[in-house]
Amino acid sequence: MNYTGYSFYVYCWMVLALAVWLVLNFVTAPYGRHATDKWGPQVNNKLGWVLMELPVMIVLCWFVIPVFSQLSVVTRFMIGLFMFHYINRTLIFPFRLRTGKKTMPFIIVLSGIAFNILNGAFLGYYFSSFATYTDRYVFESNFIIGLIVFFCGMYINWRADTYLINLRKGVTTGYVIPEGWLFKYVSCPNLLGEIIEWAGFAILCWCLPATAFFVWTVANLLPRAVAHHKWYQHRFENYPGNRKAIIPFLY
Ligand code: NDP
Repeated sequence: MNYTGYSFYVYCWMVLALAVWLVLNFVTAPYGRHATDKWGPQVNNKLGWVLMELPVMIVLCWFVIPVFSQLSVVTRFMIGLFMFHYINRTLIFPFRLRTGKKTMPFIIVLSGIAFNILNGAFLGYYFSSFATYTDRYVFESNFIIGLIVFFCGMYINWRADTYLINLRKGVTTGYVIPEGWLFKYVSCPNLLGEIIEWAGFAILCWCLPATAFFVWTVANLLPRAVAHHKWYQHRFENYPGNRKAIIPFLY
């Protein structure tokens, strides 16, 4: 496929993200605190996370491994950053969760698998067929800024996820109000961090599929943050009134 044909599909993929964003403003994805057994067959929560996220690594590898020796160091580095995130998300994060015997609907797992196959394919196809980054690209401003933004986002995401997971340390499988650090300003710093991280990746790679991934992340996580925020307000009478959902002071 030439680049024009490939771009057409990536633009369609982005339009689909906008449609999903619209739907998610009315229907909250039923996993985690929003889990319900009304969505059909269920899967163990941790297993669900692994099954959902694993395909993106497999598909990306399927595209890039056959041509890996021909890829530039910079392209390999970008692939490495992506894999670094997903090794945590797939193989470490699920096993840290204190979710007991909680389940998630199989349909959520299936939709996660579908998303990750396509996302991995768009990125993998780009890195293996179209990427032309030279070694000098590391001196470009978007590489440097993107890298900084990527790691800031990752730090916020990992720290906030760790904080939330530790809220249940040896105590309960219930929920408490998170306090301190970025939780003073927003209900979901982990989701904010994830958005910043993939914004950084899009700036760093400066290419269509990384931008599409960023658009998808926003489409998924903005409505989820609003749903989490409303859930907190409904669940806890004393929930801090000045806290926003995901963007400090704004939203
Ligand atoms: P949550 O913040 O809902 O949950 C994270 C973990 O902390 C869960 O185990 C949750 O338990 C627990 N937890 C959350 N709040 C509390 C609380 N107040 N008291 C006690 N325990 C709590 O995160 P999500 O499930 O929405 O997302 C998890 C990760 O996946 C995030 O890092 C997110 O950025 C990422 N993600 C990325 C997406 C993308 O498109 N790139 C899409 C979706 C998620 P429980 O599960 O029981 O609620």
